[in-house]
Amino acid sequence: RQPRILVCGGAGYIGSHMVRMLLRHGHEVVVFDNFSQGHRAALPSGIQVIEGDLLDPATLARAFAGRGFDAVYHFAALISVGESVTAPDLYYRNNVVGALNLLDAMRAADCDRLVFSSTAAVYGNPVSDLIAETHPQNPINPYGRSKLMMEQVLEDHARAHGIRSVSFRYFNAAGADPSGGLGEAHDPETHLVPNVLLAALGERPALDIFGTDYDTRDGTCIRDYVHVNDIARAHLAALDWMAGNDGAHVFNLGNGTGFTIREVLEAAEAVTGRKIPVRTAPRRAGDAGILVADSRKARDLLGWQPRIPDIAGIIESAWAWHRAPQYGPFARAEARRA
Ligand code: UDP
Repeated sequence: RQPRILVCGGAGYIGSHMVRMLLRHGHEVVVFDNFSQGHRAALPSGIQVIEGDLLDPATLARAFAGRGFDAVYHFAALISVGESVTAPDLYYRNNVVGALNLLDAMRAADCDRLVFSSTAAVYGNPVSDLIAETHPQNPINPYGRSKLMMEQVLEDHARAHGIRSVSFRYFNAAGADPSGGLGEAHDPETHLVPNVLLAALGERPALDIFGTDYDTRDGTCIRDYVHVNDIARAHLAALDWMAGNDGAHVFNLGNGTGFTIREVLEAAEAVTGRKIPVRTAPRRAGDAGILVADSRKARDLLGWQPRIPDIAGIIESAWAWHRAPQYGPFARAEARRA
């Protein structure tokens, strides 16, 4: 039979792209989501959805009961660096306690494979230009610390309970599935690429640039943007990898090229053909100056090859989504939620 996968956070940005890709590959998928950020409109019709929270073990146990999942993909976490600094309790509860509950439920159901969403934020302020997985991990915000803690929890669970796992340290996920209907829509939106495009559309007055005094070529933060479908593709490869490899493994996912905020703006102006208004603002708490991935490990061991590696292609796909009529339902959902 086809692999049967539980996707936690399957209605969210990366999770919904994952669900679509899994279904395209003929996998059986069940979504678990609390819809705190996820969108029902992001889910294909007919898919099995369990509305629940990782902080509610009873619902989690029901999700696993009798379903025989081969693996779990865990995308359900809080992800805003700035918010994690002011509300660390929220981050540790959702990202650590929630994930521990998930591991308990997996063990109780004899499911021993997990793909975990980690982050470049585990590296803190890097000491080298390109960051490989072996780079020291010294996160500088609670979000990054919550993810690093879970990586360590997974190492211990591999040893003690035979749980196989792959943790992907995403650099900056961006873009949208070029076939349409899916994309990024957080509430409130904190991420750079969507905020740049919302400013291009006039849906926000301007793009606020958080910090212009970093030690970079133009003073703004440098990030490595990676297409959401390329991230999802790595997760597919991880399933095969875990069949032949026990233990807990970490992989970076990035393109290996860094762009400043001003360079992203310039690329977005070229893609949209619009002048994008900006305002300069103070540094955002918890931000590292430069984060660029060395992703050779994923290329060498998983055969991972990004298909939309260039910033223009990534922004183009996001722009198509932001202008598409499908964006309407998500935006209205957010408005209702607010
Ligand atoms: N950023 C910005 N304006 C925004 C959103 C983000 O200047 O409206 C900056 C942010 O401070 C960081 C970079 O863009 O330097 C990427 O931030 P994002 O939140 O997209 O991802 P992160 O790197 O925090 O995961």
